[in-house]
Amino acid sequence: MQIYEMLIDGAWVPAAGGQTFETENPYLGAAWALVPRAGADDVDRAVTAAHRAFRGPAWRGLNPTARGHLLRRLADLIAADADRLAAIETQDNGKLITEMRAQLRYIPQWFHYFGGLADKIEGRVIPIDKPGMVNFTREEPLGVVAAITPWNSPLMLATWKLAPALAAGNTVVWKPSEFSSVSALEFGKLFEKAGFPPGVVNILTGFGAEIGEALVTHPRVAKVAFTGGDRTGADVYSLAARGIKPVTLELGGKSANIVFKDASLDNAVRGAVAGIFAATGQTCIAGSRALVHRPIHDEFVGKLVALGRAARMGDPALDTTQVGPITTRPQRAKVLDYIEIAKTEGATCVLGGGPASRPECGNGWFVEPTVFTGVKPNMRIAQEEVFGPVLSVIAFEDEEEALEIANDTQFGLAAGVWTQNIGTAFQMSEKLEAGTVWVNSYRATSYLSPFGGYKRSGIGRESGLTAIREYLQEKSVWFDTVGEVANPFVQR
Ligand code: NDP
Repeated sequence: MQIYEMLIDGAWVPAAGGQTFETENPYLGAAWALVPRAGADDVDRAVTAAHRAFRGPAWRGLNPTARGHLLRRLADLIAADADRLAAIETQDNGKLITEMRAQLRYIPQWFHYFGGLADKIEGRVIPIDKPGMVNFTREEPLGVVAAITPWNSPLMLATWKLAPALAAGNTVVWKPSEFSSVSALEFGKLFEKAGFPPGVVNILTGFGAEIGEALVTHPRVAKVAFTGGDRTGADVYSLAARGIKPVTLELGGKSANIVFKDASLDNAVRGAVAGIFAATGQTCIAGSRALVHRPIHDEFVGKLVALGRAARMGDPALDTTQVGPITTRPQRAKVLDYIEIAKTEGATCVLGGGPASRPECGNGWFVEPTVFTGVKPNMRIAQEEVFGPVLSVIAFEDEEEALEIANDTQFGLAAGVWTQNIGTAFQMSEKLEAGTVWVNSYRATSYLSPFGGYKRSGIGRESGLTAIREYLQEKSVWFDTVGEVANPFVQR
């Protein structure tokens, strides 16, 4: 059993109360590391340290170019350590090593990109209408950012917050999911190594239910950046509202992968599989609804089931595995519950439909890749986020009906459109209520492109130029160049 400490004010420390908890390997179903279980005292210690660092000369006094250098040095350290960090993520969250390795090798780009932006944050000179006055704006950091991240892509989703937050000059208290603490703590060592001043990045491990409220409502936390489930997101939003704090929320979805009869069918089937069985469906952008044009419905389902059935399940640490376990025990129970709900609602299960008990799955928390047909748009399986390898197939007659079904959920994170008709593709990309639309593709993201949700899928954008604005506030500065205060009783 490996024993970890958490990072507060540049020091590796146990929880003030001395408590720890076990983190489990989802493939082996066994505990492998002990991490600190932070309490309210630790939240206060970390936020106080971050606040001190925010005001202190080592960080605040660092010029933006030097800040950018730090981020880029960090990027190089991550690149050098990517494969080791990926192996830790797989051990901790059971996601495929191939996926985690690809993510870890890509993460440095965010730190390079936002490091590059650090000294390009410019204000404006306003051509003000008042004689003798000069007015300009400054873009300033907010202060201490609380970053709360989930277990599905732990370091990637943290990076989407930390890179712009730090580039903008904020300091951070990061609470990773209780199910993926170890990779966060290993990642934290690289901030130290890169030379970030103490207190600029603090990492608190523990349970959201125990420390989430103390963190979000701490008076010295200026902003909350959260990725996770919509219910927890709504709680975090209302806690932040108490302190009138800005939030960025990325809350998952019920994304539609829409296949028209003129699509390249094999590509569309692979896209549907990429959308739901890759990452075992545990991704906010899961294409969990396949909307299929009626004339090709049966052929599409036949090919989909064949590809899903052939997916290799097993040890996520092997390069050859295609579907790994579910990350947490409660999540597995939730996925299995939804499968039962779908059956009760009258959907037809044409693939999977229960726990996986193949020999290569060992004691892991596996669920068979599952496909339901005959799903009605108003069924719970078509409306609620399952976050597992469960696909609902819904037939549609025409473009109008496809749009109506696709948009008829409370979520709006992403959508895929499969067609060879450029007019259809354009119309759909315009009318789909989703923060991201892929045409003849699925699950592409980049540090260059804004990512976020419409409707209940969230608030704000991560990645791309837009993201840095989420961590800045605009100040308007006025100079009187005449030096004469006119009538003090009349507003100037
Ligand atoms: P949560 O949304 O509960 O967890 C996300 C993060 O929030 C974790 O760090 C969690 O900590 C923390 N948290 C939990 N409660 C609070 C709180 N009261 N205040 C502040 N932070 C809190 O996700 P779950 O792991 O419980 O998964 C539930 C569902 O959420 C999944 O079934 C899935 O549908 C969805 N989900 C969506 C994700 C996405 O990418 N959009 C990612 C993960 C889940 P801790 O882990 O300690 O509870």
